[in-house]
Amino acid sequence: MADEPRQTSEHELEQMPALRPAPILRLAADHLKQYDWPKTLNLPKSAFPARAAPADLARHRQKCANDLYTWQRTHRPVQDEFVLHDGPPYANGPVHVGHALNKVLKDLILRTELARGRRIHYRPGWDCHGLPIELKALQQAQTQQDETRSHRDVPPKEARAANGAGMSADEIRLRARELATATIEIQRSSFREWGVMGEWDAPYRTMDQDFEIRQLGVFREMVKKGLISRHHRPVYWSPSSGTALAEAELEYDDHHQCTAAFVKMPFVRLPNVLKDRDFMSTGKGSHRFSALIWTTTPWTLPSNQAIALGHDIRYSVIQAQAGQDKEYLLVASDRIEHVTSFLPIGATISAVEGLEDWPGSDLADGHATCLNVFQDQESPLLIAQFVTASSGTGVVHMAPGHGMDDYLVCQQNNVLTALAPVDGQGRYTAEVFPASSTHNKKLTGLDVQTAGVDAVLDVLSNAEKSWIQRKDVTPGNHIFATHAFTHKNPIDWRTKQPVITRATAQWFADTSALKGPAIESLEQVDFLPTSGKNRLISFLAGRSQWCISRQRAWGVPIPALYHAESGEACITDESIAHIIEMFHIRGTDAWFENAEDDPAWVHQSLEPGKWLRGKDTMDVWFDSGTTWTSLEPRSDDKAISDVYVEGTDQHRGWFQSSLLTHVATQDPQAKPKAPYAKLITHGFTLDAEGRKMSKSIGNVISPEEIMGASLLPPLKEKKQRSKHPTSANGKATGDTPKYDAMGPDALRLWVASSDYTRDVTIAIPLLQDVHNTLQKYRVTFKWLLGVLEDYSPSQSVGDNINDKPSFADEAVLHRLREIEAQVFEACSNYAFHRAVKEITNFVNNDLSAFYFEVCKDTLYTGLAADRRRTQAVLEEVLQRLMLVLAPATPHLIEEVWEYMPAALKQNTVHPMQRVWELNQKEGSSQQDADSTDLRSRLGTFRDLSMQVKFAQEEARRAGKMKSGLACSVEIHIPENTHSKPADHIREWAQRGELADLLVVSQAIIVEVGSTPKLNGNVAPAWRFEQVLMDWHQVDQRINVVVLPPTGAKCVRCWKYTAEEEGVSCEHCRNVLKEKGAP
Ligand SMILES: [Zn+2]
Repeated sequence: MADEPRQTSEHELEQMPALRPAPILRLAADHLKQYDWPKTLNLPKSAFPARAAPADLARHRQKCANDLYTWQRTHRPVQDEFVLHDGPPYANGPVHVGHALNKVLKDLILRTELARGRRIHYRPGWDCHGLPIELKALQQAQTQQDETRSHRDVPPKEARAANGAGMSADEIRLRARELATATIEIQRSSFREWGVMGEWDAPYRTMDQDFEIRQLGVFREMVKKGLISRHHRPVYWSPSSGTALAEAELEYDDHHQCTAAFVKMPFVRLPNVLKDRDFMSTGKGSHRFSALIWTTTPWTLPSNQAIALGHDIRYSVIQAQAGQDKEYLLVASDRIEHVTSFLPIGATISAVEGLEDWPGSDLADGHATCLNVFQDQESPLLIAQFVTASSGTGVVHMAPGHGMDDYLVCQQNNVLTALAPVDGQGRYTAEVFPASSTHNKKLTGLDVQTAGVDAVLDVLSNAEKSWIQRKDVTPGNHIFATHAFTHKNPIDWRTKQPVITRATAQWFADTSALKGPAIESLEQVDFLPTSGKNRLISFLAGRSQWCISRQRAWGVPIPALYHAESGEACITDESIAHIIEMFHIRGTDAWFENAEDDPAWVHQSLEPGKWLRGKDTMDVWFDSGTTWTSLEPRSDDKAISDVYVEGTDQHRGWFQSSLLTHVATQDPQAKPKAPYAKLITHGFTLDAEGRKMSKSIGNVISPEEIMGASLLPPLKEKKQRSKHPTSANGKATGDTPKYDAMGPDALRLWVASSDYTRDVTIAIPLLQDVHNTLQKYRVTFKWLLGVLEDYSPSQSVGDNINDKPSFADEAVLHRLREIEAQVFEACSNYAFHRAVKEITNFVNNDLSAFYFEVCKDTLYTGLAADRRRTQAVLEEVLQRLMLVLAPATPHLIEEVWEYMPAALKQNTVHPMQRVWELNQKEGSSQQDADSTDLRSRLGTFRDLSMQVKFAQEEARRAGKMKSGLACSVEIHIPENTHSKPADHIREWAQRGELADLLVVSQAIIVEVGSTPKLNGNVAPAWRFEQVLMDWHQVDQRINVVVLPPTGAKCVRCWKYTAEEEGVSCEHCRNVLKEKGAP
C-alpha cells in the first residue's frame, strides 16, 4: 500500500483548496489501529460553504451594500465627500450587460474611494421621458385594443402607434408614466442584485415633479440670458417618428441608396459677363442655357432658392448636342470630364470657345438668376465656401429649408425663405408646386423620399409650356441624367428609418454662445482615458445648433404661450415664472389636460383669452442634461460632482448636454465650470468576434446568465443526484441541469477584470476564466479560515526558539506588501483590471503554488510554536486579501467575515469599514535593500524548485517514485563557489529549511569534490539530475539530484523520515509528546 498514487481524495476536496495534495493519513497496518493518527493532525476546519445559499447571499448583500452605504453616511467625514453623479439609464426595457459594465464600474470606483476613508455619495437616477417610452406605451395600448377588436387588416403596429393611435396627450402621458415606473422597478431590483450600493430608496427620476421644476428653472435662466429662441430653421426630422431629432439621436446608414440627378436649372437672367456674348443666338434649334446642378435629394428641388458657385472655381459654358437639339450648360471646368461620362447615348459635348474660364466670383454677380420651375421663382447665383470642384458639377442646388449649410449661406445673402413644403410624415404639402395646379394635386401627399423623387424627376423631364411662362425659358427635358447612388445617410436611432432635414418652427438653445465657455471649462477636467478630452471638444466645436423642442406628448412641456391670432410666441420671464408656479400647484400633466382656454396659465401681464399653451415638449437630452440640479451645491471650489462615468457615446450626448446647461446657468463673468471634475468613459460590450450584442444575431449574454453560470458546463449530475434525489414536486432533478452559480461576484469580477477604457469582450471562455478565478479565491479563503480556526492573534508567539520567521514566511509577506502596493496604485488610477491580475497572480503563484505548499506540513503535523508562527503569517495574508478584494467581490468578503473565527475579529474592523493605508514606509533605503535581497532569494528559490520538480517528474516517468515526499535531494555546488544562488541555498540548508522548502523528505548540499553523504558510499538505486540553467559558468554550475529517500515512510506525517516501516518519525514523536500523548 506504500507509495500509492497520490490522488486527491474526496475528503481533501471537501476540506481544502485545490492545491497540491497534502499528506492524509491512512492506516497502513492493523497494529496501528490502536492509534488514531488523524486525530493527532491539525487539519483545516471551517463551516465555510462551497457556495452561498440564496438566502445567505441576500443577507450578505444587505450588509455589504445597503448597511455599508448607510453606515458610511454617518461614520465618514462630511468634509471629505466623494460624489459620483449617476448618468440616468433610460427606463424602457430590461437590463443588459452594458448596464452591468456601467453600474458595477461605478460601484468599484465608489468602494475604492470608501476604502480610502472618504464618505461617498451615489444617488441613482432614471431618464423617463421621450419617444422610445412613448412609442412602447402606445404599442402596448394598441396591442390591448387589437385584442378586443377583430379587424382583419391592421396596419403595421409601429407606424400606427407613432401616430398616437387616436389617444389624447394626457392618455399617452398616463400610459408612458406607468410604463416608465414599472421599468424602473425592474431595473432597480437588478442593479441592487449586483451589490451596487447607493441611495436606492430615493433615486432621482426625470418625470418627478421636483425634477421637472428644477429643469424648467434651468430653461428659465437660459431664456433670461437670451440663450433660447424660436426659429423657422432646418432641423433633423424623422418622418417615421413624426418629430424633430437632435444630432445625438441620429445613427448613420453607410449604404443608403438613392437616385441622384443632374438637373438643368434654366437661366432667367444671365451673369453680366455673359450678357453680350452671342453664343445664344447662333445656329438652329433650342438655345436653352442652364446651370447644371447635381443632387442626391431630387425631392428638395421644389424648394430650391439659390444656386451656389465656388468663389475661385473656374467655370465653362459647354454645348451639349443630341440630334438637332442644342443647349448650353454651365459647369465647373474641372468637372466637364465627369459630366461627359453621364452623357446620354447619341449626345455630344463640346466646349464653347472663349467661354471656358470664368471664376465663380464673376458669375455670381448679384444679377444672375435661374428658374425654380415648381415655384415659378428666380433663384440667385451665390458664392458658398463649401462648394468644391471635386464632386458633382461644381454648381450646387440650394434648398435652405432642407439643409443647414444652405440655410446659413442663404441667410448671409438675404435669401430668407426656408421653404419646406413637406409635412411631419415626410409628405409633400400643397405648397410644393404652385406653378401648376394639376401637378400640385399629383405631388401633394406623396412620400418625398420615394414616390416624391419619381414624380419630381418626371415633371422635370417634361417641363410644359402651360406652366413655364418665362419667355426666355424653353420647355422640354430639364434632366440631363439620373443614376443610382450609394451614400451615408442619417437614420432615426429608434426606428432606424431615414431622417430628412426640414425647416420647421422650433425652439433652439444657442450653442454658439455656449461652446466657447464649455470648451474652456474642460481645462479643469481630468479625463480617463485622456483621449476623451479631444473627442468631447471636437463634438462641442462641431455642434451647429441644439433644437430642444419635440412634437411629442411624453416630456416636460416647453413653457411657451402662443397668440391665438398672430401665432407669436411668449416666453417672457414673468410668464415662465407664472407657468412654473402653476406646475407646482397642478403638475405638468395639467398643461395637457386643462381646457385650452383655461385662463389660470396666462400671466396677468398678457391679454386674457388671447394666449394658448404650446404643445411642444423638451428634448430628453435637455432633461438628462440638467440632472446635475439634483446634486447639492458644494460650498468650496469643487465641481458639483467628482466624477461622471458613462459609455463613450455620451461624448455627443449626456456629457455634452450636462456641460452646456451647466455653463449656461453660470455667471458669464466668472470662470466657466464643468459639472464634473473627472470624466471617465467606458467602451461597449462586444461578443468574442467583436460584434455588438443583438437579438437578431443571437449573441446576447445577459447579466443573469453570468451570475447563474448557465452558459458554462453544468455540474455533474451524479453529485447532484446524491444530494437531492428529488425536487419538491417529486420530479427527478436530472431533467434540469444544475449550474455552478457564483452569484453577483462573478458579474462584478468580469467587470473588474476588463479594461473598460476600450470595448469590453464578453465570451464563454472568458467567463470560464472569471469563474475559475472566483472559485480559486473562494477555496483559498475556505482553507485560510480552516487553518486559522484555533488561532488567536493575542497569544504570544515569541516564547519559543522557533519564532524567527522562515525564508518562506519572509518571502510571502514581502510579496504580500508588494502586490498590495501595486493593487493600491492600480485602484488609485481606477485600473481595476490590473489590480485583479496582481491579486490573482498572487493567489495562484505565491500562495497556492508556493507558500501553502511549503507551510502545510508545519500546519498539519508540526510543533505548536511553528504552527502559530505560520498562522500569524496566514492571518496577515487573510486580512490583506480581504481588504484588496472587497471592492470587486464584496459578497464573498462579507461571507468570509461572517465565518471568521471570533478571536480573529477581536482586534480588527470589518474590511469594508477599514481605511486602506499601505503598511509600509515609503522610501526607506533599508527596506529597498531588503526588498532587493528578498527578490533575489525568491528568484533562486523558484529556479531551484523548478529543477527539483523536473527531476522528480523524470523519476515518476521512470516509475521510481510517486509522492513528492518519496525522495531526497542533493544539491551539488562546487566547493568555494560563492555565487548568490549558492549562498542562498547554503543559508537555507544551515537554517534547516531546505527540505521543507522543496517539500521533500531530505535535502542536503554536496560541496562538489567531497563524497555524497545521504546514501553513504553505496551507489543509490536511482538518480535523476538537472542543471540550474541560469548559471552558465561551468565552475559555478549547480546541479540538482533527486534520489531515493533515506528513511522509511512515517505513519503520521508521511515523510520518509522514520527509522523503519510502520512507525512514526522522531519529529512526529516530539509533536505527540508536546500534545501530551502517551
Ligand atoms: Zn513524521
